[in-house]
Amino acid sequence: MKSFRLLVLVAAMAASLPQAKAQRISPDQFSTSLGTLTIQPINHATFVMTVAGKIIYVDPVGGAAIFQGLGAPDIILITDIHGDHMDSATIAAVSKSSTIIVAPQAVADKLPGYEKVHLTVMHNGDNTSILGLPVLAIPMYNLPDGPSAAMHTKGRGNGYVLNIGGKHIYISGDTQGIPEMRSLRDIDIAFVCMNLPYTMDVKEAADAVLAFRPKIVYPYHYRGKNGLSDVAQFKALVDADNKGIEVRLRNWYPQADAGK
Ligand code: ZN
Repeated sequence: MKSFRLLVLVAAMAASLPQAKAQRISPDQFSTSLGTLTIQPINHATFVMTVAGKIIYVDPVGGAAIFQGLGAPDIILITDIHGDHMDSATIAAVSKSSTIIVAPQAVADKLPGYEKVHLTVMHNGDNTSILGLPVLAIPMYNLPDGPSAAMHTKGRGNGYVLNIGGKHIYISGDTQGIPEMRSLRDIDIAFVCMNLPYTMDVKEAADAVLAFRPKIVYPYHYRGKNGLSDVAQFKALVDADNKGIEVRLRNWYPQADAGK
């Protein structure tokens, strides 16, 4: 507890230093029974949701500066142990003393000291409620015959489904088009990864999305080893099947555009 508070204090001091304004695209807004839900893409797998005065950070990495002005998180959701999802320095830098961290066990094991603060460990399939918001942990993994079977083993990381004021929001984490994704139902907003060699290509992602038919899907986490995936092709594949799914293409890499 003590070391965590010290980290938060040091981070707060660092955050108060003058910094360049973060490169950030415009947020999207949705109406829910709790009021307006604002979704702010940050970068790659990282985004911030705000509703009814609650602030939720998803996979915050990259330092506190890119979250400047968004408010400290009430909830931090972490999907996996890799550096594009879990960064203990960023977590310490953005957290306040009441922040609740929701994470799989493998992430918790890498956050020494956090177990004494507000850490909720969720395993695949677990259901819980965080600050009144229902949260379900969904498996995320590479298929045994997939391009990267060993990178994301089943059971280690969590995707999540949140119920925010009646809107069901699916966050895939790093995964292929697994049966657990394909069998989801009643998803209003989905964040689906698509990059090689880490997760899946746009064809596999489109096929999975057409199976579970979210109302809105954001391709996210689409920077791979050979640059950005062809998300326009993903959209074309989903649109061609005409299932009434809205594909929202957003620039998840604004820092790269700014030449930084
Ligand atoms: Zn990743």
